[in-house]
Amino acid sequence: MADPTAECNIRVLCRFRPLNQAEILRGDKFLPKFQGDDTVSIGGKSYVFDHVFPTNTTQEQVYNTAAKQIVTDVLGGYNGTIFAYGQTSSGKTHTMEGKLHDPQQMGIIPRIAEDIFNHIFAMDENLEFHIKVSYFEIYMEKIRDLLDVTKTNLAVHEDKNRVPYVKGCTERFVSSPEEVMDVIDEGKSNRHVAVTNMNEHSSRSHSIFLINIKQEHVETEQKLCGKLYLVDLAGSEKVSKTGAEGAVLDEAKTINKSLSSLGNVISALAEGTKTHVPYRDSKMTRILQDSLGGNCRTTMFICCSPSSFNDAETKSTLMFGQRAK
Ligand code: ADP
Ligand code: MG
Repeated sequence: MADPTAECNIRVLCRFRPLNQAEILRGDKFLPKFQGDDTVSIGGKSYVFDHVFPTNTTQEQVYNTAAKQIVTDVLGGYNGTIFAYGQTSSGKTHTMEGKLHDPQQMGIIPRIAEDIFNHIFAMDENLEFHIKVSYFEIYMEKIRDLLDVTKTNLAVHEDKNRVPYVKGCTERFVSSPEEVMDVIDEGKSNRHVAVTNMNEHSSRSHSIFLINIKQEHVETEQKLCGKLYLVDLAGSEKVSKTGAEGAVLDEAKTINKSLSSLGNVISALAEGTKTHVPYRDSKMTRILQDSLGGNCRTTMFICCSPSSFNDAETKSTLMFGQRAK
């Protein structure tokens, strides 16, 4: 369990995607001005992050700056979480997953999978590793197992050490990066089958990939555990833009509530407010409780569109990221 008194460890990184074809054809303006490697300004206002990735940053550069160290830390027994926050179509899935089987275009999750096994092969032969992964989504505050479509409303429980976990969620043991990729492909295809419009659905649900690593020394029997949550959040866009009613409005309110509860938890941790961190306000923050703040490694990607069309959303996204600083 994370030591809640330890210094909080939250990095906020901002990534801008390039203008897309439709935006160029429409004549949208490219808004961000990048200064140094940690500042972006829009409309004369500057936003400073731990790092800012301009539009031409490669997937490999993002991985090296944002995630490489976390792999080492999780193998060293720390817990961690990497999130992608931003409006729909801002590059969250591109950042977290990218093109899964394309060595250049693959995102953070497949790179982490490769890196974990590269590290393990180079480590002490007397260490035995047990790596398992889970893949689930949270839609309307319901947890759905992406590796078993019959499990559509799983509960969050606490184990005897008061560590929260998703009870009954499928866990797959994996022993190579290829096996991790197979699990991701399986989860994604289940998700496609379960919904009529995948783009719409993915913008309204949080998808969470969990990597759990246990290691044991065969002689000393010394054990070490670490886990890493990789979270592709629901789209952060305001609903007023679409003029939603009924079920769509309910969805929007639920998303809004869970994203703002995440924001509240992160900013409480960033401020070092040890007395009350409101983990219990949403399913996601409950699940992530022992993998956020404390001596955990937390990285938040703030994903942005550069287009003048998305000006207001981009500013609100940047402000969300600033709250964590
Ligand atoms: P989100 O998951 O936030 O809704 P996506 O990751 O699906 O957004 O990105 C929307 C589109 O933009 C996709 O076609 C994706 O390939 C493209 N895209 C996103 N970020 C980049 C980037 N940094 N470079 C090139 N294309 C990108
Ligand atoms: Mg997406």
